[in-house]
Amino acid sequence: MKNCPVKHCNQFMDGDTLACRSHWAMVPKDVRDEFRRICRVAAGTPSHVAAVKKVEEFLTRRAC
Ligand SMILES: [Zn+2]
Repeated sequence: MKNCPVKHCNQFMDGDTLACRSHWAMVPKDVRDEFRRICRVAAGTPSHVAAVKKVEEFLTRRAC
C-alpha cells in the first residue's frame, strides 16, 4: 500500500487509484476515466506515465 501523494495527507491510496478515496474524488471524472482506461490497455507505456502525471499535477494544484 502506498500513501496518498497529496501533501500532508496520511491516508493510503485506494485500490487501483493514485490517491486516497477523498482526494481521488477531487480529480475530474474524465481524468479518472482516462487513467483507468490507459491502465487497462497501455500500462507501463509512455501514455501511462503521462496519465499518471496528469492526475498528480491535478492533485498538487487543487488538493490540500
Ligand atoms: Zn489523500
